[in-house]
Amino acid sequence: TLQAPPEAHEALRCLFGFPGFRGVQEQVVARVLAGGSTLAIMPTGAGKSLTYQLPATLLPGTCVVISPLIALMHDQLRSAAANGIAAATLTSVDADWRETINRFRAGELDLLYVAPERASQPQFRELLEAGRVALFAVDEAHCVSEWGHDFRPDYRLLRPLMDAFAAVPRLALTATADHRTRADIVQQLGIPAEGMIVAGFDRPNIRYAARHRDSAVRQIAALMAEQPGPGIVYAPTRKKVEDLAQKLAQTTGRKVLPYHAGLDPAVRADNQARFVASEDMVIVATIAFGMGIDKPDVRFVAHAGVPKSIEAYYQETGRAGRDGDPATALMLWAAEDFARARHRLGEVDPARREGERQRIEAMAALIESGTCRRAILLRHFGEDPPATCGNCDNCLDAPALTDATELARKLLSAVYRTGQSFGFGHVEKVLTGVADDRVVQRGHDRLSVFAIVPGAEAPLLKPLARLLQARGSLVPTEHGGLALGGDAREILQGSIPVMLALPPRSERKARRSRGE
Ligand code: ADP
Ligand code: ZN
Repeated sequence: TLQAPPEAHEALRCLFGFPGFRGVQEQVVARVLAGGSTLAIMPTGAGKSLTYQLPATLLPGTCVVISPLIALMHDQLRSAAANGIAAATLTSVDADWRETINRFRAGELDLLYVAPERASQPQFRELLEAGRVALFAVDEAHCVSEWGHDFRPDYRLLRPLMDAFAAVPRLALTATADHRTRADIVQQLGIPAEGMIVAGFDRPNIRYAARHRDSAVRQIAALMAEQPGPGIVYAPTRKKVEDLAQKLAQTTGRKVLPYHAGLDPAVRADNQARFVASEDMVIVATIAFGMGIDKPDVRFVAHAGVPKSIEAYYQETGRAGRDGDPATALMLWAAEDFARARHRLGEVDPARREGERQRIEAMAALIESGTCRRAILLRHFGEDPPATCGNCDNCLDAPALTDATELARKLLSAVYRTGQSFGFGHVEKVLTGVADDRVVQRGHDRLSVFAIVPGAEAPLLKPLARLLQARGSLVPTEHGGLALGGDAREILQGSIPVMLALPPRSERKARRSRGE
C-alpha cells in the first residue's frame, strides 16, 4: 500500500493535531499527492475531510471542494479555520464574495467550497482559469449516480468542468456505495478503476438489532432504560417526530427533544446544540438530522421505521459509538413500512425504479434474516465477513428458524381463494376454521382452504404474513385487503422455500410476561 511522504505526516501532526492516519486515509492522501485521481469509499466518521484538506495545505494552488449542503460547508470552514487552513465558501449566504475571489486569484486559499449548481456555471470556470487549481474534491460523490440513493443532476455537470482542467487530479468521496453505484461514480467522474480505495466498513462496537414494531414508544423506552447516555431516534415524518418525542419524554422522564425541518430554525439549532452538549439527552429526528454533527458519545440510534436503503441505514446507525465504546442500533420495522415504500415506487422516475426496488428488497432481506446482521451489511458493502459476529441480535440470541414453506403456501392460497380483497384477520379466520358471520355469508367456510391450519401452527400466521408483506409476496390493496405480489406464484408452486425467523425464546418470554 501507498505511504504518504514525510511532509504529510508532519502536517497531520502539526496542523491537524493527530498522531497518525486512520485506516485508508494515508493511502488516499499518498495517491492524491502523487497526482492520481481517486474514489475514496469510507464510512461516515472515518475521516474523509482530512484526505483532501491535508493535500490542500501541501499542494500549490487551491483545492476546490464540491459539497451539496451549505450547512456542512460552513461546519467544514470553521474546523479548517481552527486548524489554521485558509478556506472560504462561495454560497448564496456569503457576503464576502469579492474578497474570496481576490484571495483565490492571489493563490492564498487552500480550500474553496462550492455547491454543485454553482460549480457548473460558466462564470465559475472563468474564475478557476484566473487562478490555480490543485485538486477537485467531490464530496457525497454518490449524488452523481442514478443508482445512488441521492441522485442530483447538477453533479453530472461537474465532469465537463473537471475535464477543462485535465491535469488537475480528482478526489471523489462517499460513504455510501454499492458495487453498481461505485462503478458508476468512477465512470461518471472520469476516475480510473484502479483509483478506487475502499475502507473497511465494520463498526465492531455497534450492536445491530431489528425487531417487529409492536409499540415504538414502549420498545424505545426499554432501549433507553438499558442504554443510558445520548441517543438518536429516527422517525419517518415530522408528525411522528413530534409525537414520539413527547411520548418518550412522558414515559421515561428523560430529556427528549424533537428535530425536523418544520421547526423554527432557532429552535432547531438550539435543540441540536443542546443535544451535542448533553450527556444523556435523546433527540427524535427526521433523517435531516445528523449530517455534519460530530458527537462521538451517541450510545444508541433507533429507527422507528425502516430506512430507505442499506446505505442510509448504515450511515444513520454509524452516528452511534464513534468514540469506540459499545453502542446499539435498533431498527423497528412493520409490514406497512414496506408497503408504503413499494407504493412510492410508482412515483419514481422509471429510469431509477429498478434501483429503488432493489434497495427495498435489500432492506427486507436485512430485517427478515435469522443470520448475522453485520455479515449482511458488510457483504452489501463488498466485504467478505465471517458468518457470525457475536455482537448482533441474531448472533447473541439466535432466533428459532422455521421452515414455513407449507404454511406460506396455505396462506397465499387462502388469500387467492377469498378473492384477494380481505385483510389478514379474515384470512386467518378462514385458515383456522373460525366460521363467523362474515366468513359464512361469503361462503368461505366451504372453501378448500377452510380450517387447514392446525391450532399449533396458528400463532405463526401473523409473523408469516408480516414477513411475506416485507418481502412483497403479499401486497396491500387500496381497501386494506391483501393480494398476491412479487414471488407469490413461485412460493405457491413450491419452487421457493420460506424460512421464518421467530423471535428468540428470551423475547417471547418477555412478551408473555407483558401479557401480549
Ligand atoms: P467523515 O466525513 O468521513 O464522516 P470527518 O471527516 O467528519 O468524517 O471526520 C470524523 C472525525 O474524525 C472528526 O472529528 C475528525 O476530526 C476525526 N479524525 C479525522 N482523521 C483523524 C485521525 N487521523 N486521527 C484522529 N481523528 C481523526
Ligand atoms: Zn452478528
